[in-house]
Amino acid sequence: MSSHRNFVADHVTGIPRSGIRDFFDIVQSTPGVISLGVGEPDFVTPWNIREAAIYALERGRTQYTSNLGLLKLRESISTYVAAKFAVRYDPKNQILVTVGVSEALDLALRAVLNPGDEVVYHEPCYVSYSPSVVLAHGRPVPVVCRPEDGFAVTARAIEAAVTPRTKVLMLNFPTNPTGGTMTRVQLEEIAAVVRRHDLLVLTDEIYSELTFEGDHVSFASLPGMAERTIFLHGFSKAYAMTGFRIGYACGPVPLIEAMMKVHQYSMLCASIIAQEAAIEALENGADSTAEMREQYRLRRNYVVKSLNDLGLSCHLPRGSFYAFPSIRDTGLTSRDFALGLLREEKVACVPGGAFGACGEGFVRCCFATAFDQLEIAMDRMAKFVGRAKRG
Ligand code: PMP
Repeated sequence: MSSHRNFVADHVTGIPRSGIRDFFDIVQSTPGVISLGVGEPDFVTPWNIREAAIYALERGRTQYTSNLGLLKLRESISTYVAAKFAVRYDPKNQILVTVGVSEALDLALRAVLNPGDEVVYHEPCYVSYSPSVVLAHGRPVPVVCRPEDGFAVTARAIEAAVTPRTKVLMLNFPTNPTGGTMTRVQLEEIAAVVRRHDLLVLTDEIYSELTFEGDHVSFASLPGMAERTIFLHGFSKAYAMTGFRIGYACGPVPLIEAMMKVHQYSMLCASIIAQEAAIEALENGADSTAEMREQYRLRRNYVVKSLNDLGLSCHLPRGSFYAFPSIRDTGLTSRDFALGLLREEKVACVPGGAFGACGEGFVRCCFATAFDQLEIAMDRMAKFVGRAKRG
């Protein structure tokens, strides 16, 4: 075989593989595992939404759409976002339909970052954030959130991380993996920092429909913030539509225009079938979302109580479908805990370190799993923790 130079770009070589996916590979090759691992609803997409996708196919809706997405979908998004988040975006030029929030996040970063621009974000956080910033040639600057603050981020911590090179602040509330949420007052304190340092905010509110305590407040709805905020949202969590790969970004015209250019040349448009299904979700999906939220609430209450009872201190996630208990008292690292639990008791959870260095000492347990499975998982975890604590 002839030898050749390393073709992979340095900045790609430098980013790790997702800790979640690595774990998922082990889970799939171990029979009988109960997975609290991957952050995915266990519900199938509601039937009326699936039917809308089938009907789109039946009508021969198999073409490209406008780069921005179907106008009808953008109109539905505009109405929904105005009603739910109290911000109004013009369907003509302030809304871009994307291939999930994943693409929206990537487009936003690629559209706004110059090489070396710093992006401040809060950790523990979704595994994509830091790599997405690096892939867009930015510099990720994490700020630590703590369980004693309910995993909210403080304005003081953000301000301490800001430098003259900071351009973007990324927020995700309710948070993956901690379920942390923010009050209006806490968000307003952050808005003051954003104004003082002239920052752009990317707010990923994908879990907003899964808020169990208090009202969800969108950062974009705060006075003066819509003009410096890109609002990211999608259908994966609220409507159990992960496989449809559909989401959207809303924001100021020049920023959506810049994102649209990147999207136009890299993705062209989101799938028309998914877009048709998304219209149905927004128009007739509210009851299904409410039912799923209620199920998640019951499961959350059960899982958090069980974790605390079995000796893993766990704060109450106010949103999302994740519990993030501390495993420090077992004396194990997060990775050894998760690997041991998987091998000995066949329960999969994700080591907290996958979500940033400050996630070490925790594991993420996704409770988007059927109640009877959660009961078995908690029994198995109790056995494992009992053994680990006895040493
Ligand atoms: N943001 C967060 C915080 C997430 O947890 C996820 C999915 N786990 C995404 C974005 C990606 O969502 P989508 O399926 O819309 O790409």
